[in-house]
Amino acid sequence: MEKVLFKHIDVPDQYRIDTYIKNGGYRALSKALKEYTPEELIELVKKSGLRGRGGAGFPTGMKWGFVPKNSPQPKFLLCNADEGEPGTFKDRALIENDPHQLLEGIIIASFAIGAHRAFIYIRGEYYFGAKRLQQAILECYRKGYLGKDILGSGFDLDMEVYRGGGAYICGEETSLMESIEGKRANPRLKPPFPASVGVYKNPTVINNVETLSNVPHIVLNGAEWYANLGRPKSTGTKIFSLSGHVKKPGNYELPMGVPLRELIFEHGRGIKDDRKLKAVIPGGVSTPVLTAELLDVRMDFESLYEAGSLLGSGATIVMDQTTCMVKVAYRIAKFFEHESCGKCGPCREGTRWIRQIMERIETGKGREEDIELLRDICSNIAGKTVCPLGDGAVVPIISTIEKFRQEYEYHIKHKKCMVDLGERFV
Ligand code: SF4
Repeated sequence: MEKVLFKHIDVPDQYRIDTYIKNGGYRALSKALKEYTPEELIELVKKSGLRGRGGAGFPTGMKWGFVPKNSPQPKFLLCNADEGEPGTFKDRALIENDPHQLLEGIIIASFAIGAHRAFIYIRGEYYFGAKRLQQAILECYRKGYLGKDILGSGFDLDMEVYRGGGAYICGEETSLMESIEGKRANPRLKPPFPASVGVYKNPTVINNVETLSNVPHIVLNGAEWYANLGRPKSTGTKIFSLSGHVKKPGNYELPMGVPLRELIFEHGRGIKDDRKLKAVIPGGVSTPVLTAELLDVRMDFESLYEAGSLLGSGATIVMDQTTCMVKVAYRIAKFFEHESCGKCGPCREGTRWIRQIMERIETGKGREEDIELLRDICSNIAGKTVCPLGDGAVVPIISTIEKFRQEYEYHIKHKKCMVDLGERFV
């Protein structure tokens, strides 16, 4: 399949505006400003079927359409570049290697929703990416793609990069807005939704890096072309960040709906040292684990949902037969405990309790009642928190108990791991 987002990813100086233009860049912006009204652009994106690539998979055109057209308040476009889901590293590749593709998408999206101010919120650790973006923005101002009267269209847009402090919760859209406003990044209760009450209480659209990078291609090639790239309800391509026990980890741009088997065994060249596949986390650590029998599942929103998991951000973590699933769940529990912002009780206290119980099971001090206790704590977190982090934190625990319960029981009964890795509890 011909690449879309990664078409020029290996061109050494693709990050420079002249190379980007030489490779067809900013033609989509010119077309969008000259040939489309904002409403027509929203319709185009709706027809393409583009869905958010940050994890939730919400239809992008519909999100843009929620912004009130006749509101006298200023509108904002925020690009969520706070990529922090363990196992996800696709946005980094797009930002560092092809920043103008993203900027072009942001400018078109801002025109569509009537925003004259755009922010790229990038995680603190992506220092190099932030520098690349700042340089790219500067180049855009010099060429007239940003600032006043862009390409003589009468449309004005200012854009800036905002660096986060490195907290996972800032990737949640309402915390991201709090952070931009200079406050502690605690999530807000929804409703109201950002489309009506967003950053500085103004109508706001927040889109992920990969989502926005798709927009210029849709404008240039049309909605139908894009819709034909993937599956009927999961259109386009997807960048899968493949990691774990594979021979060739990396980012792979493939059509939506590619079978998991093809992703692991063709693109990832199979399991390291030719060991047996045990489990796969298909979309980042907050998505339910799949067992090896589900190797033929298609990697798209619907197919993974039907298989009992989620596409999430497309971070595919592969685990072979030497993996202890209790240890996997324990490590993830530590992550969520650390990243809980502490605003609501069930998540703040619950993630700590989960980590404590997982720790004693993993270190051979588990009690017989611990599995049911974990399930009980999880049921008191899921659906009872301010933001989705709480739901995400219980998923790896519940799904590993469901699918690998015997490993938990073995740990508790024999005070060691059933996966033979030598002296685990020393
Ligand atoms: Fe904070 Fe967790 Fe509550 Fe989200 S669910 S608001 S991260 S305490």
